[in-house]
Amino acid sequence: MPFQLYNTLTRQKEDFKPLADNQVGLYTCGPTVYDYAHIGNLRTYVFEDVLKRVLLYDDYKVKHVMNITDVGHLVSDADEGEDKMEIGARREKKTAWEIAEFYTEAFQKDIAELNILPPDIWCKATDHIKEQIELIGTLEKKGFTYQTDDGIYFDTAKFKDYGQLAKLDIEGLQAGARIEMVKGKRNSTDFALWKFSPSTSSGKKRQMEWNSPWGTGFPGWHIECSAMAMKYLGEQIDIHCGAVDHLNVHHTNEIAQSEAATGKKFVNYWIHGEHLLVDGGKMSKSKGNYATLQTVIGEGFNPFAFRYLVLTSHYRSKLNFTWESLQAAQNALTKLYKQVAELDDARKLDQEYKDKFEAALNDDLNTPQAVSIVWDLLKSDLPAGAKKATLLDFDKILGLGLDKKQQLVEIPEKIEKLLTEREKARSDKNWDKADELRNEIEKAGFIVDDTPEGQRIKQAS
Ligand code: AMP
Ligand code: ZN
Repeated sequence: MPFQLYNTLTRQKEDFKPLADNQVGLYTCGPTVYDYAHIGNLRTYVFEDVLKRVLLYDDYKVKHVMNITDVGHLVSDADEGEDKMEIGARREKKTAWEIAEFYTEAFQKDIAELNILPPDIWCKATDHIKEQIELIGTLEKKGFTYQTDDGIYFDTAKFKDYGQLAKLDIEGLQAGARIEMVKGKRNSTDFALWKFSPSTSSGKKRQMEWNSPWGTGFPGWHIECSAMAMKYLGEQIDIHCGAVDHLNVHHTNEIAQSEAATGKKFVNYWIHGEHLLVDGGKMSKSKGNYATLQTVIGEGFNPFAFRYLVLTSHYRSKLNFTWESLQAAQNALTKLYKQVAELDDARKLDQEYKDKFEAALNDDLNTPQAVSIVWDLLKSDLPAGAKKATLLDFDKILGLGLDKKQQLVEIPEKIEKLLTEREKARSDKNWDKADELRNEIEKAGFIVDDTPEGQRIKQAS
């Protein structure tokens, strides 16, 4: 059964064939470590983890590289605004280096809590300045660059296939954006490879800067991914992932730089995940509509509940986040853990269910279907030992920790009843009764919070 993936390059599902035998080079764009990742970012890392686990399940040898963006990611995609790292440093009165170290660790902790397999290679942009300078040098020699007052730019008009991945309307973009373009840029889609540090006379000395053949400064955001992906995976790689917000600019520019430098196709399969939304809009730092994994945990949720929630939607569908849906995911997961705990020891797995499960995931990572197969299996009349063995096998991909004793707290029926009564009291505006019920719930060891989305319950610590 072939593994099919939706390739953004061709806008269709394709059979996956690696460049070499059963070896797969996988590059996933990593976090910008100026702040905590939000659960939108983490949705993307969960989908990429499922992709990697399916490859491993299908017996591929995977070499997974993830970068840490610790310099050069500016506030605006148009090469303007401050470096996010410098903003983080000012916000916390620390150095940009301290900020990077702190949030890299926080990110690594988050992904471990979500049972996301770590990459084989972590690589920081600031550890690869030499490689980035070399790549810019190659592009310069080949005539793809030009210099402005503020840096070295890639001339997108010189790269024939620019914008193909995102199917950009280049002419429309050039015409529309001319007015707001950074001074000295030749085309609106041109992007910075190297930015000069502001002159010291302006009094705004950067914390992170390096010497280069063009002057003191720092690399653009896009060049780091090209330089590090090629260093660790070669000039041509099998799979490159990220969320859809990276399509128009970041990935489009990675392709342009890499292919201009090598003359070879950079990536065979571009796989993009859809966004996590809040009230119909993208969850993002700039909108302030985000939650971190630590917020989620603080609200009484198990990180696996978030992982389960992500698995219940297809990675190419938008997923609107609500606390209610997270609660529903946690309830389902609690039920799942309970049922798994009640099964006998694992015996021989059931091949028919295994085939169905594999078919769902090999069909462009259909995780919602895979999750429903889990419930079908539990409902089936297979012997308990076969159910257990099959579920443990499925968990190699789901990563829900079914092999461990999970500590999820079930909300007792008595509490559920009190909550329903309290909901009614609140809608009748009978506040005394609502308070009385709150006390009763607290005495039973649970805390109830009233949120715009209704009551939320967690166990008292
Ligand atoms: P960043 O730290 O901004 O470089 O983003 C890290 C990853 O999260 C990238 O793959 C982004 O495309 C992805 N991302 C950003 N916002 C969201 C969102 N709301 N939902 C899903 N993925 C996102
Ligand atoms: Zn990247």
